[in-house]
Amino acid sequence: MTFAEIGLHPAILKALTDSGYSEPTPVQTQAIPAALTGRDLLVSSQTGSGKTAAFMLPALHRFASEQRLPAAARTAVQERRPAPGRGHDRHRFQAAQPRMLVLTPTRELALQVTAATEKYGRQLNQVRAVAILGGMPYPKQMELLGRNPEILVATPGRLIDHMSSGKIDFSQLQVLVLDEADRMLDMGFIEDIERIVAATPASRQTMLFSATLDGTVGELAQRMTRAALRIQVDAVSARHDHIEQRMHFVDDLAHKNRLLDHLLRDASIDQALVFTATKRDADTVSDRLNVAGLNAAALHGDMHQGARNRTLAAMRRGQVRILVATDVAARGIDVPTITHVFNYDLPKAAEDYVHRIGRTGRAGRSGLAISLVHHAEQFNVRKIERFTKQMIPVEVVVGHEPTRRPSATPRPAGKPAWKGGEKRSYGQPVGQADSRFSKPSAPRRDGPPRAPYHESAKATHGGARRTYGDR
Ligand code: AMP
Repeated sequence: MTFAEIGLHPAILKALTDSGYSEPTPVQTQAIPAALTGRDLLVSSQTGSGKTAAFMLPALHRFASEQRLPAAARTAVQERRPAPGRGHDRHRFQAAQPRMLVLTPTRELALQVTAATEKYGRQLNQVRAVAILGGMPYPKQMELLGRNPEILVATPGRLIDHMSSGKIDFSQLQVLVLDEADRMLDMGFIEDIERIVAATPASRQTMLFSATLDGTVGELAQRMTRAALRIQVDAVSARHDHIEQRMHFVDDLAHKNRLLDHLLRDASIDQALVFTATKRDADTVSDRLNVAGLNAAALHGDMHQGARNRTLAAMRRGQVRILVATDVAARGIDVPTITHVFNYDLPKAAEDYVHRIGRTGRAGRSGLAISLVHHAEQFNVRKIERFTKQMIPVEVVVGHEPTRRPSATPRPAGKPAWKGGEKRSYGQPVGQADSRFSKPSAPRRDGPPRAPYHESAKATHGGARRTYGDR
């Protein structure tokens, strides 16, 4: 199905063509037609799957279609909307009356959703989107709200502040989106979300996007939606087909640092994202890489919003080659030129691993995710493999081999950690066979047993790039 066959407004189709989107991604194919009927949606999909367009395009279509209403009806719709304060009225603030609200867990994701909305809505007159975020100066936010935007994209905490002081009136709200709902709950936003939802009209359309729809997210979704259509996009194939994963065992911190330096000097890296467990480590690793002559910058929650925005902008312009970040700061980052993701530290939750590696392989490109793993962390690796249903092959770099062998813990009998794939043992290039991994593995797309790191990296990145159509 094409975007035109889905029946989107011509102005939106034009913007999509200009953005280089030739066909909808799987989540878009399923979600957009249903959302256009006004139905509530519960969508389980991953970041990088094209979910922003999946909720934004139907909403923009709705607003564009209302703009085309006959004059009488249009006036009725528009009369309800207060005009922005002008002249003497400038200081008498009238509450903004948005028609759509998108809640996101982080500021970065909110800014990305706003930017995507501007891209998709470029051809539509009078559809304004603004981001309301913690960390943004208050006067600036008042100015943005004063424009009475149709679309608000917000993090829950700051939005509550504005609601409490009467700056926002949700009586005209038509569409509510909860983006990365599971993450918002993880971050403790449940009460804020409940308050916000309670302030919106029951007649609204609600779309909830989340990596998982189980547990607390599922309960919240039940309470917030009516006769919602559940959409599950096959997570594994959607996530990992185009992202190659590898891991290296390290003996200790010094070994880890040496290996990271070595791997980051690979010429096939356009830009890399390195994940650390703590903000302090993000700073330390970034400083160390700079001293080593690698062009790095840190990104974490202790930095002021201005500094975070500047760092991200420098990354997008290609002025920073390596971004060293924590999970929260890097969540939602969409820089298509990130070719490599490194897990300097493994994440605690398997879901975070998936989010992290999803920072590469954006927009249908291929990507490489490399984890540096201490021997004592094998249990954590197993957890991740069970979650992704994919095995992470072990690699060794000549001259940087670990002195210790990882212990071989058998997988539970009758319960393969992943399914399918031809029988092949993953090559340990310098003869360090790891019995844990000499088991059937997921099919490789580049054929023969793996060469040492620097060779296989070349092979991967010299290969064909995938597009959504290939999946
Ligand atoms: P998202 O999952 O919304 O963060 O989107 C991930 C990336 O895919 C973004 O860079 C989008 O611009 C891109 N994207 C979304 N939909 C499409 C599409 N239909 N064709 C090509 N790229 C897309």
